[in-house]
This record gives sequence, structure tokens and C-alpha cells, in this order.
Amino acid sequence: MRHPAEPFAVSLASIEEGRNRLRLEGTAEDLGISGDELALDGGVVLEGEFYRADRQVEIQGHVRAPAVLSCDLCLEPIHRAIEAPFRLLCEKRGDRDRRSGEQSGAEEVGLLYHDGRTLDLRDEVRQAILLEVPWHPLCRPDAGGSARAAAATGTKGSAGARPGPEGVPGTSCV
Ligand SMILES: [Zn+2]
Repeated sequence: MRHPAEPFAVSLASIEEGRNRLRLEGTAEDLGISGDELALDGGVVLEGEFYRADRQVEIQGHVRAPAVLSCDLCLEPIHRAIEAPFRLLCEKRGDRDRRSGEQSGAEEVGLLYHDGRTLDLRDEVRQAILLEVPWHPLCRPDAGGSARAAAATGTKGSAGARPGPEGVPGTSCV
């Protein structure tokens, strides 16, 4: 089977002991991302190093998703690749007591328990992408920017970058 049913659910047995370079690719549906949350016009990729030590797997990589956002000012669609770091420590539930107490740095890395067979990364990948979605995307980097910067700093912005009436297409970014 060329396309596994769950591309982001990795069999532990498929990961070799030590360092692995893996690339997982799936769709928004695979991750349970609905069009209301985020529109994508392509596949989601998780790529990175999977370091396996027995039943513990440490993942250091990044996720990429080609998002279709809507400009906050003119409502024009924006095609922008969302890219987010992906760090995760996966271990079998119950294995934790085998390690010594000084796991410093473990707080900043996500922890995922697995059942000894499958690393189900779907929720983690989904969260990593959704957290990276900009709240106020703009179709141009400078759209409305000078006016906002001027308002923030008290300096005079350049003419023409004034934000138009809210939600009126075509008035703000051209
Ligand atoms: Zn715009």
C-alpha cells in the first residue's frame, strides 16, 4: 500500500534504533483540520530527525502546510506556507520511572505517550500548524503597516498606506 491510512501515525517498528531522517506527508483530513479552521491547498509535511532509543523516540523537525489565508484588510486570498518547529518526545506510558529525575529541558519539549506500537502524531502536528496561523494576515508585508507603525511610534507614516474602512474589499492594500 503506497499511502498508509494514517500518514501521521507511525509504527514504532518502522523506526530504526538511533538516528532516522523521516518525512511524513498527509492531508488536512488526515489531521482533522476542517476548512473552517484553516484552508490548505496542498499536503502537510512533517520532516525531521527521529532519534529512537528503545521505546523512546525524540523528534526534532518542522511541519509545513500550504495555507490559504484571507487578508485582514482587503479580504484577498493569501497563499502562504505555514512552517512551524516540531519537537516532541515520545515514550511508552509507564516507562518514565526508568529515567533519573534530572530531565532538565523536558518542559519545553512536548511529551507524547504511545502504546508501544504506534506514535500517533496527528494531534501534535495539527496543533503545531494551527498555532502558527497568523491572526491578522496581510496580503502584502507593508499593507497597512506604515500607518500602524506610525500610530504606534508617533512618527509620520507614508501616504497611501492608510487602512480603509474595515471589511471593504480593495480599499486598503492597493
Ligand atoms: Zn490585503
